[in-house]
Amino acid sequence: MKYNIAIDGPSAAGKSTIADILAEKLGFVHLDTGAMYRAVAYKAFQDDIKIDDEENIVKMIEKMDLDMTNDGRVILDGEDISEKIRTNEISMGASDVSKLQGCREALVAMQQKICENGGYILDGRDIGTVVLVDAPVKLYLVASAEARAQRRVLQNIEKGIEADYETILEDIKKRDYQDSHREHSPLRKADDAIEIDTSDMSLEEVTERVLEIIKEKVGE
Ligand code: C5P
Repeated sequence: MKYNIAIDGPSAAGKSTIADILAEKLGFVHLDTGAMYRAVAYKAFQDDIKIDDEENIVKMIEKMDLDMTNDGRVILDGEDISEKIRTNEISMGASDVSKLQGCREALVAMQQKICENGGYILDGRDIGTVVLVDAPVKLYLVASAEARAQRRVLQNIEKGIEADYETILEDIKKRDYQDSHREHSPLRKADDAIEIDTSDMSLEEVTERVLEIIKEKVGE
């Protein structure tokens, strides 16, 4: 059976970008778990459910048809919402719903089911500590808030969405605080994860370092 790879770290630390590159190089599938929390927030806004109404959010998740495609699209009830879930409003909404234990349990179960046969790279906040505790490769990517905001600005410009540096920096700091201080599964490095500070590294350098780690851990 193939193994899975866990990548955690704060928002905009480059997890998704690295996961995409690795998936391509290793022939794995990248599952962006943050996009699943974003889809829940999107649907809650759409259905006018309060973001802290755990009971109704959990009921909503049970009914929603969420398809995370192998090529990274997010399809909710038949609609492709991949781009729509990238706004600042949905980022904060996702951070808010992710505090709810019922929401976490439902999404963690879905994530574990998706990758049960291995061959997946999951990126998120609790992958190494909760979702894939037995993964042989666990990475923890960090970078300064300023470096992350700068990268997000460039990414957003490319995608044609909101790209104000100060707003993005503030959002990143707020989510960092919220994600690492919440009661259930706060953002935390797993004891056996390897930390990489990418602030002053190019994408190529990070990729090289990660491939070295994978080689050390699983001999590939
Ligand atoms: O990774 P991304 O920024 O898209 O995630 C959006 C939000 O979803 C995060 O701020 C975090 O609160 C939540 N999240 C989480 N656990 C994960 C992935 C994301 O709590 N595994």
